[in-house]
Amino acid sequence: MNVVTRFAPSPTGFLHIGGARTALFNWFFAKHHQGKFLLRIEDTDRERSTDVAVDAIFESLKWLDLDFDDKPVFQFERANRHAEIAHDLLKQGKAYYCYCSPEELEQMREEARQNGKPPRYSGFWRDRDPKLAPTNVKPVIRLKTPQTGELTIEDLVQGSVCVQNNQLDDLVLLRADGTPTYMLSVVVDDHDMNVTHIIRGDDHLTNAFRQIHIYHACGWDVPIFAHIPLIHGPDGAKLSKRHGALGTEAYRDMGFLPEAMCNYLIRLGWSHGDDEIMSREQIIQWFDTDAIGKSPARLDLAKLTHINAHYLRETSNQRLLDLSREFLTTKLSRQLTTTEETRLLRGMNGLKQRAKTLIELADAAIFYCVLPQLDDKAIKFTTPEAKALIQAVVSNIEATTDFTESALENLVRQVAEQTNQKLGNIAQPLRVALTGSTISPSIFEIMDVLEKEETLNRLKAFIK
Ligand code: GLU
Repeated sequence: MNVVTRFAPSPTGFLHIGGARTALFNWFFAKHHQGKFLLRIEDTDRERSTDVAVDAIFESLKWLDLDFDDKPVFQFERANRHAEIAHDLLKQGKAYYCYCSPEELEQMREEARQNGKPPRYSGFWRDRDPKLAPTNVKPVIRLKTPQTGELTIEDLVQGSVCVQNNQLDDLVLLRADGTPTYMLSVVVDDHDMNVTHIIRGDDHLTNAFRQIHIYHACGWDVPIFAHIPLIHGPDGAKLSKRHGALGTEAYRDMGFLPEAMCNYLIRLGWSHGDDEIMSREQIIQWFDTDAIGKSPARLDLAKLTHINAHYLRETSNQRLLDLSREFLTTKLSRQLTTTEETRLLRGMNGLKQRAKTLIELADAAIFYCVLPQLDDKAIKFTTPEAKALIQAVVSNIEATTDFTESALENLVRQVAEQTNQKLGNIAQPLRVALTGSTISPSIFEIMDVLEKEETLNRLKAFIK
């Protein structure tokens, strides 16, 4: 089978991480089966759909490096096609006009409630003579759904799920104003796009039963469904903003790398043994629906941060500079100079070992651009004794021509010996003088990166 999956977000808000995970599952499933991954923007809710949200979806997919095949489909543009199918079904006697007013429908529901039944449409116009139709009411088109028997879905994640047909009423396909319902649009689009596998949140499982009845009425092949459990918060409750149900761009702004996000999200509800860190190639090789869990996965920001730290260490210095540039320039309120770029590029080796996010990386890197104000811990090192030691280092540096990391280490060790000090007693004031902080990468690496002139400038300024 030529696998075709799709991601079908509604552009009514940001693309939150639950949606991003659904996109990832569909993308990797398609790649694993050498199939296609399609994008459909479900923008039929004209009140709530916005261009900003559409742009955010494209941006997020690009950020996560999830490319889609073919041109994206915009559902609203296809409304005529959807309506055409409703009219076809009408002609074939598989659908019918219903003239019930909202008041009548409410009354029906109320009666059902009173009889202890679920509030549903009674099928009033299903077999009624259309000649009895009122002339002043615009009808909706409803599907004749089977009233007896049952429908079973063999869901790739949920397993066999069965619903009695008498639990479902005749759903509306076309509204009185001629606009198609969501249920109809989804089915027609998935059919026309040749979608073979529908992987989506399990909040759509009940919709699947209604949708399958539309497929049957149309005489179309029913795709294979995989309804994945939603993501829950760390406390087990449904994910909300409080938990971090933010847009993917919020995670980008928090300094997470897209590859870390992908790795973390793909593992949220799917596993491959105990493997935690996986390359894209590995995920493509391994990803399938059989290892998707049935219970909701919990969002764990600490784990995401841990994975992010791993990817930071693996990322090239140039890319780290590119990714952290925005954070740095925001801090500096100006662009980076070429000297700063050169230093940052060389300094990344030490910096990336410690940072867990790009924000932490930028915070730790800023001293390569400007010497920050000494923090509270650092200021304690500005003692006359420390200044005397730094003066000794300055004199030795001025006299040397070898400014490599190892030469600098020897030089500082010698000063320690000559002054009868432990290396740490010199290293810490040096660190403070060079970085403004008591925590940093190796001071020898830092001196090497700053080069002689700037190193001396900073050390002399400290002594003053
Ligand atoms: N547009 C729906 C949503 O954003 C998805 C529908 C589907 O996947 O069938 O929840």
